[in-house]
Amino acid sequence: MTTITADYVIVGAGSAGCVLASRLSENGSNKVVLLEAGPSDHHPMIHIPAGLGHLIMHPKLNWNYTSHPEETSGNRALIWPRGKVIGGSNSINGMLFVRGNATDFDNWSQMGCTGWSYDDVLPFFKKMECYSGGDDAYRGRSGPLPVVDYDTILPATHLFVESAQEAGFLLNKDYNGRVQDGVAYSQMNRRGRFRAATASTYLTKARKRPNLRIETRANATQILTEGKKCTGVTYIQNGITKRINASREVIISSGTVGSPHLLQISGIGPASHLQSKGIKVVHDLTGVGSNLSDHYVSRIVHRVKDMITINELQRGLRRIREIIRFFATGRGALTFGVTSAQVFCKSREGLASPDIQLLFTPASYVVGKFLKFEDHPGVLAAICPTRPSSRGSILAQSPDPFTYPLIRPNYLSDPDDVRVMIAGFKHARRIFGTTTFARYDVAETQPGNQVNTDKEIEHFARTMGSSLYHPVGTCKMGTDPQAVVNTRLQVHGINGLRIVDASVMPQTTTGNTNAPTIMIAEKAAVMMQEDKKSS
Ligand SMILES: Cc1cc2nc3c(=O)[nH]c(=O)nc-3n(C[C@H](O)[C@H](O)[C@H](O)COP(=O)(O)OP(=O)(O)OC[C@H]3O[C@@H](n4cnc5c(N)ncnc54)[C@H](O)[C@@H]3O)c2cc1C
Repeated sequence: MTTITADYVIVGAGSAGCVLASRLSENGSNKVVLLEAGPSDHHPMIHIPAGLGHLIMHPKLNWNYTSHPEETSGNRALIWPRGKVIGGSNSINGMLFVRGNATDFDNWSQMGCTGWSYDDVLPFFKKMECYSGGDDAYRGRSGPLPVVDYDTILPATHLFVESAQEAGFLLNKDYNGRVQDGVAYSQMNRRGRFRAATASTYLTKARKRPNLRIETRANATQILTEGKKCTGVTYIQNGITKRINASREVIISSGTVGSPHLLQISGIGPASHLQSKGIKVVHDLTGVGSNLSDHYVSRIVHRVKDMITINELQRGLRRIREIIRFFATGRGALTFGVTSAQVFCKSREGLASPDIQLLFTPASYVVGKFLKFEDHPGVLAAICPTRPSSRGSILAQSPDPFTYPLIRPNYLSDPDDVRVMIAGFKHARRIFGTTTFARYDVAETQPGNQVNTDKEIEHFARTMGSSLYHPVGTCKMGTDPQAVVNTRLQVHGINGLRIVDASVMPQTTTGNTNAPTIMIAEKAAVMMQEDKKSS
């Protein structure tokens, strides 16, 4: 078997893995290997922001998981896209940049994650980004990841923002600053006209370094251990099994699905489950794969009149004009992400921070088909309870590394998530019910005016909702018996093994999850250098 040796082996070149590879290789004395199951990120649709529609179910650049059909979400197998490419999910995502609420991180700290309060993580949020707006106290000016405001804003987006203000939501100039509440235009990760992922930013600079080796189409199949020490990994590349020995550490950055799955098939996980699947137990760690939390959304769609929405811009002559505009000026509809404006609001009085995100898109999709545009002008708002209490699991079904794990999100199983969803629905309807919006409104087409009572809204959400593709928490950080990693992200009970990605979040954040995942990787890189110095 081919064997190579490195100081640090990182498994997964996604949002977090690319940051770690870049930061660790800044120190020329660290020999770093980055393994990625997917190919390079050369596909042009990755780089054109509006290319998301091509990536959401791409047969080669996406793992294309589906969730297990569950009664709480209408017994449907829901699509669960995850990037399988350099840049991971960050190379196929909606590019919306949301840090989360300060209280999210203070709650992590309260839960036992010492060192992860808002004051602790703010320097890393600032370190990662380069943004020209907002307040210096909160925003970073010279980090590797560009954050920009939309420079082309459709009238439909302005209409939503004005309508939300009429409905009582204050205009917030920077929801990533001191205050998150209110209605705001979106910020996104774009450099010039192109997507800015951790692959095209952090990793592009680092990949020239002689101490960083990147292996693509390299699927890790096992974490190797000797007693309770991790020694390396095996992986399969072009049908050949290879091995890497890690003299310092193995870091698993395979994401919320991949990380617990790789641990479990390597014998690290809940012993009784592993035994039931014929997997030899190396280390009994009950929390691996549990505590799954995802953002689940339902959508209100309106048909509108007297304005152009993305539905029209992506058809016929207008489409050709937008393509020319993109290449000639770097502006226009091809530079858009999915969400052009949003509202952060509360489901009830007295909450310390918003628990609802309303995500506005100046487009509408055919019923049940994400990103398949309707043939008349339309807009939509996705309603997202941002701090759901429902928890699910991701569990290996077989020792075979290529058999997908069973994904049980358990959406809306906690009654409080239903309450928040209904409250969010009512907020969105208030916005669409304003006199400002009425000037352009034709009708609510989904769910429509036959859905009114709380029971009807709940039924609609359960049977028509979908994932917002933000799973977290399956290798959670903490000190309780369900925790998988400690506050330095080291796996409890195994030396030389860390997990650094969205799976370590003990609780999800108020908003989209890419920015907090990158923050976690920035902080982990510093902790690893500190640990190296003190060893
Ligand atoms: C369609 C979509 C839209 C989204 N929109 C947004 C958005 O607009 N804004 C936002 O903030 N967030 C968004 N997200 C969520 C965000 O992208 C993720 O939270 C974030 O990318 C998670 O980063 P990660 O490092 O944990 O995992 P990932 O980025 O998924 O990286 C994991 C990597 O590990 C690799 N891997 C897995 N298993 C193995 C193995 N065995 N061997 C080798 N490699 C392996 C994978 O191929 C992948 O490259 C979206 C996600 C999706 C899928």
